[in-house]
Amino acid sequence: MTLRPSLVFFFVAFSSIAAAQNPPQPQPAPMPPPIPAPVDKPYAGPIQLSVDVTNLTDRIWKVHEEIPAEPGAKEMVLLYPEWIPGDHEPAGPIYALAGIVTAVDGNRVQWARDRINMFAFHVPLAAGAKTVSLDFDYLSPIKPSAGRIEVSDALADLAWNEVVMYPAGYFSRDIPIDAALKLPSGWKYATALETASKDRDTIRFEQTTLNTLVDSPLYAGLYSDRIDLSPTPTDKVYLDLFADKTEDLKMTPDLLQAHKNLAVEADKLYGSHHYKHYDFLLLLSDKVGGIGLEHHQSSEDGVDADGFTDWASAGMDHDLLGHEYTHSWNGKFRRPADLWTPNFNVPMRDDLLWVYEGMTEYWGNVLSARSGLRTAEETRDFFAWAAADFAASPGRNWRPLVDTTNQPIVSQRAPVSWVSYQRAEDYYYEGMLIWLDADTKIRELTNGEKSLDDFCKKFLGVYNGSFITDPFTLDDVVNDLNSVAPYDWRKFLEDRAYNLHPEVPTDGFTRGGYKLVYTDKPREWFDKTAAKRGFTDFSTSLGFSIGSLYGPRAPESRIIADVWWGSPAFNAGVTPDMEIVSVNGIAYTAKVLTDAILAAEKDHQPIQIQFRRDDRFITIPFAYYDGLRYPSLERVEGAPDRLDEILAPSKSPLPAT
Ligand SMILES: [Zn+2]
Repeated sequence: MTLRPSLVFFFVAFSSIAAAQNPPQPQPAPMPPPIPAPVDKPYAGPIQLSVDVTNLTDRIWKVHEEIPAEPGAKEMVLLYPEWIPGDHEPAGPIYALAGIVTAVDGNRVQWARDRINMFAFHVPLAAGAKTVSLDFDYLSPIKPSAGRIEVSDALADLAWNEVVMYPAGYFSRDIPIDAALKLPSGWKYATALETASKDRDTIRFEQTTLNTLVDSPLYAGLYSDRIDLSPTPTDKVYLDLFADKTEDLKMTPDLLQAHKNLAVEADKLYGSHHYKHYDFLLLLSDKVGGIGLEHHQSSEDGVDADGFTDWASAGMDHDLLGHEYTHSWNGKFRRPADLWTPNFNVPMRDDLLWVYEGMTEYWGNVLSARSGLRTAEETRDFFAWAAADFAASPGRNWRPLVDTTNQPIVSQRAPVSWVSYQRAEDYYYEGMLIWLDADTKIRELTNGEKSLDDFCKKFLGVYNGSFITDPFTLDDVVNDLNSVAPYDWRKFLEDRAYNLHPEVPTDGFTRGGYKLVYTDKPREWFDKTAAKRGFTDFSTSLGFSIGSLYGPRAPESRIIADVWWGSPAFNAGVTPDMEIVSVNGIAYTAKVLTDAILAAEKDHQPIQIQFRRDDRFITIPFAYYDGLRYPSLERVEGAPDRLDEILAPSKSPLPAT
């Protein structure tokens, strides 16, 4: 055999590789020094902050700050808030900044972003430096793909964390700040901050701390109304409404009364308050994005423009204010100790969110029922809907509830593909059912003498008038429950929240005198809301839903939103990216499919559903004959009607808070 030239080359090349000299294995480059940790010490303040939100065309907000330098420091590290309380994730909109310019004592100095921490900017200081001047623009999103729309031609939601930087090395409560704001001409405003002076459209606020500033957003706009909901002369509560059109501000007398009842019922429940005056900042707009974000002395709330004028079709929002108001006590005043952080750039740990959010979800719903914002039946439907969803979610077999509290950080609150398998943020609704379970358990243990209302007064109602956060641990929760009704509360909570708990927590229904059932009877209030948004729920029948209950309305939606793992749809290969095209040869509408499910229940003929995925059309026969199966709570005659008691207006007198 002759040696061909190509093989010669191969052998030469191979032998040269074998003889290569390798460099040493790479080692990691040293990390830069960490950002100075916050220390509880006085700051050489105050910071002077001025914000201009008059550019309604480009929606660019101009920020200027004068920031005192620490004597002798060689640099100042400026932080842009990353961990915003209530977000439960590192979501400060650092991507929306531009035009960042720094100067020291009047001379421009170039900043440098930290190599590791994208929210930190190093500003070198010469000896004797006194003040760092900072200018930057905050580019408020002008299309939804860039983030929540915060401003329209007629109103704006200003979150101060978006328009402030502050020096590293201090607790945010130790940094005093003088804030000034320039508004578009003629705009009114509302905030928990106190106004020091007003000159035309420029407002100067009384000096506060960075902590309180970030916790005190401001709504402003052309069309607004301020409604006094104060339950007592010393408990000041206001509903500050803002809308794109003045007619959207109109409330019926019944609706106004229900909102006043909410403040009364909360006063009776908590027996205290933790604010100087509380401001529900509520926007009614289809242009600015909806929101529900808690603060100590206010909340940022947002619903559709017709949220009041078509109240009956906004059922999912009817517990919004009850939820956010409850957070003034649970979440803001009492906060999980590892969720409290000294400034806005220290990571938060979310493991007790099943208390912070779960109990708030419970009380938000209960207070809404007690005040008449929702009926007791609607509230029971809501509880049943949550339980039915858990019953159809096999994610419970692998993921303890406590791990779902990490989900805001894990997924940055982006939608997940298979929500029933991944179980996403179940700590809200499952937490709600756990606290119903606990409430009925206390009532059972004490023969109706005590309830979770008593626990609330003990746990949340202390230090009346103070709004200094009082951190808590699981031990504090267990101890306060034991002081109301002795029981093995640690095991009770650990079993449900920390251990795998495949069983759906429905003991609260049973002890409350009800049972979870599935019926063909539609839930009118829910269906009205769903129809308006274009959401249709077949989760408990075929195993999929169409459209979304939240976000922009899409009444003609045909896109599958979720497919429940292990459901008939899942087993047939339906995926949450398909479009539903037709049912038994007829173009899809929610009614066509609903009628087909009812017909199949009677004639036992498979439902032929055509789907589209990309450019393929797929027809799937569903041999499903079990009907619509709407979840509902059915009264068990003879059983104690504890749930009815829980949802009825409180009989307690108004406390003198
Ligand atoms: Zn919440």
